[in-house]
Amino acid sequence: MITAKHEKWLSEIQKADARLRAFPDGNGRPNIHKPRAAAMRWAIALSQKQLDKLSDGDFSNLQRELACFRRFELKEPVLPGFVEPAPWPSREDINNTQQWIRGILDNVSSRSDNTVVYKIPEREWHLVWIISDRRWGQFYTEKEIEGTSRVHELFDLVREHVDKILRCKAADCQKIFLRDRSNQEFCSTRCQWRTGQRTYKDIPPERYGKRGRRMTSTPTRLTPTPKEKNSGQPKKSKERAHGTKRRTR
Ligand SMILES: [Zn+2]
Repeated sequence: MITAKHEKWLSEIQKADARLRAFPDGNGRPNIHKPRAAAMRWAIALSQKQLDKLSDGDFSNLQRELACFRRFELKEPVLPGFVEPAPWPSREDINNTQQWIRGILDNVSSRSDNTVVYKIPEREWHLVWIISDRRWGQFYTEKEIEGTSRVHELFDLVREHVDKILRCKAADCQKIFLRDRSNQEFCSTRCQWRTGQRTYKDIPPERYGKRGRRMTSTPTRLTPTPKEKNSGQPKKSKERAHGTKRRTR
């Protein structure tokens, strides 16, 4: 029997599915036409989260997103049938999953010569000769293994995107990201622009202003200081190239 509990579960799963599909790229733009890439970015973001600092709401969203991805992998969510909806992933499960994603992303993005090996521990294949039908039946079962987290759906995601998982080339960022274009080296236009400013040889360093200064840990200012604005020097029209306009956060 489908109960109110089932309906509520489905509605939360559907919302989680929508969040996964709309997960933005490094420039804050979602691309609903590539839901699996969006989910890959979601998984990368999960690897970078500080789980103990999440608000209750964010943590609860994360539980639903992980449950949704494991169960439906971006196929249309459906009611869980007659069984009780499974409980949302526990904190321990999410911690384990995060550790696993961190490990595999570090490994893959380093592009070193070690082989990445992954074996699905939960899956058990059955090949059955069905006498009455005179044919082979094939199926597998999956069971939870105590103390481990189910990550094989995430592994599939990594496998599909393995050539696109890189570390941002900006020395002060170096975050792992999923590239969109084959020549993309930075996680965002923000990082690309900042690095470009520093290495752009034709502009003498004194003309970089604050924006081009080598950074230590804090981001450079995104807008000119009042002093820069009123310095009276005529501005060259090329000074702000395309893509340098900043969003304020
Ligand atoms: Zn970056």
